[in-house]
Amino acid sequence: MSQPPKAPSLLELYPEETREAADLLKQAVPQMVRHDIPPNPVHYALWYSYCQGNAPELNRRLDKIVKDFTSFPPETAVKLFREFVIRGELEEARAGQQQVITLVDDIEVDVQRSVSGSQHYQSSLSQGLAALQEPIVDDLPGVLSDLQLSTQHMQEQQEKFLYRLRSAQSEIQNLRSQLERAQAAATLDSLTHVFNRHAFTRLLEQALAGDTKGLALVMLDIDHFKQFNDQYGHPLGDRVLQHVGQLMRELLPARGVAARYGGEEFCVILQDCFDLETAGEFAEQLRLKIQALRVKVRSTDKILDSITASFGLALAETGDTFESLVTRADDALYQAKRNGRNQIHPSTPEPALTA
Ligand code: GH3
Ligand code: MG
Ligand code: MG
Repeated sequence: MSQPPKAPSLLELYPEETREAADLLKQAVPQMVRHDIPPNPVHYALWYSYCQGNAPELNRRLDKIVKDFTSFPPETAVKLFREFVIRGELEEARAGQQQVITLVDDIEVDVQRSVSGSQHYQSSLSQGLAALQEPIVDDLPGVLSDLQLSTQHMQEQQEKFLYRLRSAQSEIQNLRSQLERAQAAATLDSLTHVFNRHAFTRLLEQALAGDTKGLALVMLDIDHFKQFNDQYGHPLGDRVLQHVGQLMRELLPARGVAARYGGEEFCVILQDCFDLETAGEFAEQLRLKIQALRVKVRSTDKILDSITASFGLALAETGDTFESLVTRADDALYQAKRNGRNQIHPSTPEPALTA
């Protein structure tokens, strides 16, 4: 599989001369004022990039946000900043982390080899020492006595060395698990424990850079979730999102990828899925499981309204980009919403798969 294109670094993203940069900022600031965007560095960077116009997807998303929201959600701003502004830097950091892990793996193999070599040497020394202690002759020559002393000394050194190797090994293990935890935190959504949007983007781009045959995308969005939050509160809403994440992880087929696309919207990348029917079967399972979720208020045991979700499906086609595939699945999801929600819609003119 060929590598996806490398995200540009900050220097590549902002090649403007001072004057051009000043012009862009002059355009960006009124946009921010018009949409009541708080003036902070993250927002400056986003609206500067907006005025540059080099990332049409960013512009599309910013346009949508200012249309849909009365105030610009700070969490979304940070996500967009990660995805469109510092993505190159994040990728570089990840590559660095991977290098350290590989290095640590190599050192670990070496240390293990050294430990077993030392153990072998130590056991030969012990055997030799035992033989030297045998009273072969009554009067052991001084040379042999010296040899015995120096062998004993060597054995002590060996033991110290072994001890040091063993503690190095456990430090390496600690370092390794710390790195693995840091890597997981950078790619997983902390609430739902499925992949975050950034990781999803990378994984889908990677998948599209290879053979697109058998690649399908399922997008789902919880129905009337704003109403649920308004009625029962945000913390219960969060619990619903956690349950949905868990269901996705449980139902996910081999080589599938589940991710939180944002808010109450999730995506699943399916591999080895050659038709919309197969993608529809997976989505239907998930739809039914979500519908069957019963969220209880812990303090009163009261069971809340059932949760439903709407689904859009799209099969990858040759030449598809991240944007084109996501847009098809998103349009299909929109159709499912328009047709009454709690249903699945494929990205073709056919009628919905389930009522
Ligand atoms: P629709 O059926 O059209 O999707 O309606 P909706 O209410 O689900 O959609 P809308 O886009 O109007 O609202 C999405 C809601 O999702 C608004 C926001 O409060 C909620 N939401 C987004 N992220 C989170 C989150 O992390 N936790 C909680 N509890 N709610 C969230
Ligand atoms: Mg919704
Ligand atoms: Mg939504």
